[in-house]
Amino acid sequence: MRTKIFGISFIICAVISILLTGCVGEPESIEPVVTQNPPGYQIRVLLYDSVKKIFFKIDDEYQIISCDTSEISKAAETPKEIEITVDSNAVKMGQQQFNTRRLVIQPQNSQPFAINHQKYRGELEIVTNPDNKTLMVINNVPMEAYLAGVVASEMPSYWETEALKAQAIAARTYCLYIKSRFGKNRSWDVKATQANQVYRGVRAEILRTNDAVNSTFGMVLCCEQESGCEPFGTYYSSVCGGHTENSKNVFGDKFEPLKGVNCPYCRESTKTSLFYWPDIKYDKKTVTKNILGRYPSLKELGTINKIEAVKESKYNGNLTRITSVKLTGSTGKTGFLRTEDLRLAIDSSGAKIQSTCCAIVSLEKEFLFVAGKGFGHGVGLCQYGAREMARQGKTAEQILNFYYPGSRIKNLY
Ligand SMILES: [Zn+2]
Repeated sequence: MRTKIFGISFIICAVISILLTGCVGEPESIEPVVTQNPPGYQIRVLLYDSVKKIFFKIDDEYQIISCDTSEISKAAETPKEIEITVDSNAVKMGQQQFNTRRLVIQPQNSQPFAINHQKYRGELEIVTNPDNKTLMVINNVPMEAYLAGVVASEMPSYWETEALKAQAIAARTYCLYIKSRFGKNRSWDVKATQANQVYRGVRAEILRTNDAVNSTFGMVLCCEQESGCEPFGTYYSSVCGGHTENSKNVFGDKFEPLKGVNCPYCRESTKTSLFYWPDIKYDKKTVTKNILGRYPSLKELGTINKIEAVKESKYNGNLTRITSVKLTGSTGKTGFLRTEDLRLAIDSSGAKIQSTCCAIVSLEKEFLFVAGKGFGHGVGLCQYGAREMARQGKTAEQILNFYYPGSRIKNLY
């Protein structure tokens, strides 16, 4: 009935539109709005590391700050892309050379700029490595604009509003925590990849996810710590498999809300083929190459012949997550790894060995990963579980209280 009324009114509007303009007009623009947060809450996102060049473009005036000399120069818009490279102790922008190892590009009117054809908000920072003539490319972006580029990259935008809001609050808290824990010792806070949170800048911005960011403006989760209620590592993953994992077994931190909860929800909203993942086989040569590539200290093991579970979390009698493994090599030497590290060392995409809720079988030439369940590390919020809770009418706050028990929401600004 509702559809019919909509259909009739649409036809009437279209007819009026044709009479007035001669053709059916474009639908009203619904540009996603990004709310500006107060200054001081910036996130430094590492977009590229160790690259030889990037292409820069902006449709507005901008200024270039050479950080070593504090020189500031103004530049007009660049209708054509400019190549940015490094030359000994200088940054080269097209034919122009700036004698600095660090350079900041600030758009004058907060216009987005493009790097390699992708648009970003905020500022662009280039840090050079003159030794190998490579660049580190960092996007200094206000917190809320950063989240607009994250939420739609981390959760489907058509999911329920309360699930998207829970995701926005978890993502805001997570980046603040990572920034305060690791940011001081490096020139960036988070990577733009799954290693932290996937960030795709302006191209990710969609009305529904921006609404989720705007309607939770400045909200973070906190838990009681020495200095009061402070943000903590609000990790999240796709499908927990039936019980979330204690963070101490995966990331090593011991926040009260991250001890793990029984999750009856994700099974309801996840396709069977995603909840139970197919068995996967890896030959020992590949496993050895991938593990030693990431952990060179294990080279003394030789070829890895055996992988055994040494620590497991058993939940509900039907979910077992291997949290630590022992590796035995052809030299007879042994080594230990957290299973989450092993999983991502063997399969960096994380899409084949979907989780550590599985059994590992050592055959003569191969390793089998069988009877797998869930998708992701399993710590903190379970995204498919959050979706199911939202479908059942739970609010973002109830979802967050469920997955991070003992935490509460506070406002950053
Ligand atoms: Zn779950």
